[in-house]
Amino acid sequence: MKIVVGHLFPDYLNIYADRGNMAVLERRAAWRGHELEVVALGAEKPVQPGEHDLYYVGGGQDREQELIAPVLAAMGEPLREAVAGGAAVLAVCGGYQLLGRFYRDRSGTELPGAGLLPLHTLAGERRMIGDVLLECELEAGERRTLAGFENHAGRTYLDEGAEPLGRVLAGFGNDGESGYEGCRDGRVLGTYLHGPLLPRNPWLADWLLAQAIAHRTGQPPLRFERLQDELEAQAHAVSASRARSRGGRY
Ligand code: GLN
Repeated sequence: MKIVVGHLFPDYLNIYADRGNMAVLERRAAWRGHELEVVALGAEKPVQPGEHDLYYVGGGQDREQELIAPVLAAMGEPLREAVAGGAAVLAVCGGYQLLGRFYRDRSGTELPGAGLLPLHTLAGERRMIGDVLLECELEAGERRTLAGFENHAGRTYLDEGAEPLGRVLAGFGNDGESGYEGCRDGRVLGTYLHGPLLPRNPWLADWLLAQAIAHRTGQPPLRFERLQDELEAQAHAVSASRARSRGGRY
């Protein structure tokens, strides 16, 4: 079947090869006989609830975030409607910050957010840079690790009772103190992990594809058969060992 992905602001929010996440989703869908159609969304092409199965937004410098924040904030309502209809979302770093209520950047400017995730972000003095390793449990009883790379000035604070994406095993994470990284609200995932994220964590790519197909079919998310993923496993192992050896240090 055809899976439709809405790629938010691909020309503004795309650093540290975040665009590579699209290539992984496209390949892993094709290996299961599915076609992935990626549609660029932004000021010219708004969010139409129901049209997209999965939304993706990458990271960006404060300057790029400032340029698109008002437009993304105005997409808050249709995005909430799309998510209520079962669409999934993956947001990385600068995109993750702007799915919250606001991001106060290093110049002190408060950038409005889409208000899709229960959090806010304040830029700090020192950037949090390095490899990261998380433990997460998207499905009850299934503990998995996520390995990636972070580079952010923002410190993200989740609201009371909000669910983080994972527990930091090595690295800074949301604020370098809470011991948690990212945020999850059902099928909406936000994270600071670049890399790009999905080539090193194919299980997450499969989880997102399963949610997207569930949106399209109205059926519960299916479970894909495991693929070899040798190279992916090596990339994960290298990233994880780098995180353990030096993650979370200024
Ligand atoms: N500009 C934001 C920050 O510095 C996000 C950076 C990013 O996307 N890597 O925190």
